[in-house]
Amino acid sequence: MLTGRRFRVEFTGEQAEYAERIGAACRAVWNTGLEQRREYRRRGAWMNYQPQARELAEAKTEHAWLKDVPGHCLQQTLMDLDRACREHGTWRVRWRSGRRWSPSFRFPEGSKMVVDKLNGRHARIKLPKLGWVKFRASRDLAGEVIRSVTLTRDGRHWYLSVLVDDGRRTPETHQVAGEAVGVDRGVAVAVATSRGELIDRPFSTEGERRRVTVLQRRLSRCAQRSRNRDKARAQLAAIGTRERRRRADFCAQTAHQLATANAVVVIEDLKTKHMTKSAKGTLEQPGRNVAAKSGLNRAILGKGWHQFALALSSAARYTGTVVVSVPAAYTSQRCSACGHVDPKSRESQAVFRCTACPRPAEHADVNAAKNILAAGLAVIACEDQPRPAGRTRSPKQEPAGTREELLLPPTTAAPAA
Ligand SMILES: [Zn+2]
Repeated sequence: MLTGRRFRVEFTGEQAEYAERIGAACRAVWNTGLEQRREYRRRGAWMNYQPQARELAEAKTEHAWLKDVPGHCLQQTLMDLDRACREHGTWRVRWRSGRRWSPSFRFPEGSKMVVDKLNGRHARIKLPKLGWVKFRASRDLAGEVIRSVTLTRDGRHWYLSVLVDDGRRTPETHQVAGEAVGVDRGVAVAVATSRGELIDRPFSTEGERRRVTVLQRRLSRCAQRSRNRDKARAQLAAIGTRERRRRADFCAQTAHQLATANAVVVIEDLKTKHMTKSAKGTLEQPGRNVAAKSGLNRAILGKGWHQFALALSSAARYTGTVVVSVPAAYTSQRCSACGHVDPKSRESQAVFRCTACPRPAEHADVNAAKNILAAGLAVIACEDQPRPAGRTRSPKQEPAGTREELLLPPTTAAPAA
């Protein structure tokens, strides 16, 4: 199975400087390539990878700074651009801005790379032109086949993302066949299951939230392009990074627990992208409830819904769990005992009290999770006759997907908002 491993890099000063240069060259190639593609589109023509790669080879004879960096990384940038333009359309692919884009580049020929263990804590890998790169060996790579290596700077540190084939396969049957659970991803509580578990964790501390308010106020008062502004931005980014890591951790751990304990996990098919779209609307048709919507958006993104779904499908590959997603309509308004649908049953964000049957009040998210489980089991039951467990995959099921996509630099896959 293809999967990713991430390590913190410890560059020498010279290497760090060189890595920045490679990043800058890749950025220039991306932007030039994108501009060329747009120019062609304006004239009603198309540009694609092959001619661009030829032009890149020509440009390298003229420009020393292009020749200076690993050619494979530049080619890979053009390939990523090609793929992004095919997937999202030339006009929706973003520029890589020097201020916003954090440098990232990929070495495709993983099979030729040598990893060398230095001691219990460190290892090194030989990369074209960069030479031996030292990294924190927080995990053993022995017995895994390296496919490609991506270097990314996140804040002050560089990271090595290694795409590996770990040689494992998805089990034919789950170790606890028959166990099924429904999961509701809520705003009040991150994850509620049909068994009544409420799983949540704060991703930022009270102190951090106060600090963010102070820093944001300071940022708004700083002069444009001033030293202090950069400082405040860096401090804000550091807090943001911490929060992001805690969220990723929570998603991965919860997904692993659910996948290990259940042969079937049913989730809502929430179109997070549509849900988080701004309510602002257009000039002719201004949106309503803009402030309320933006608050909900922050809550949805804050709990990392999309990330959780990804983590779940990733964990499911190792346990043989079937992940079923069902439409989210009415799951929060239907009584899981009698099936009565009434928006009034939902007394508040957290309490569900059925208006039709005498059942005692229940946590609203747990009630929703039970509905989701029932809907998911119905999908599986009516799907078809007996089949080898874990093999055939229904159209409604989330595709397992390869981690390759997840390992791409974010800007390649993300269309303009
Ligand atoms: Zn009821």
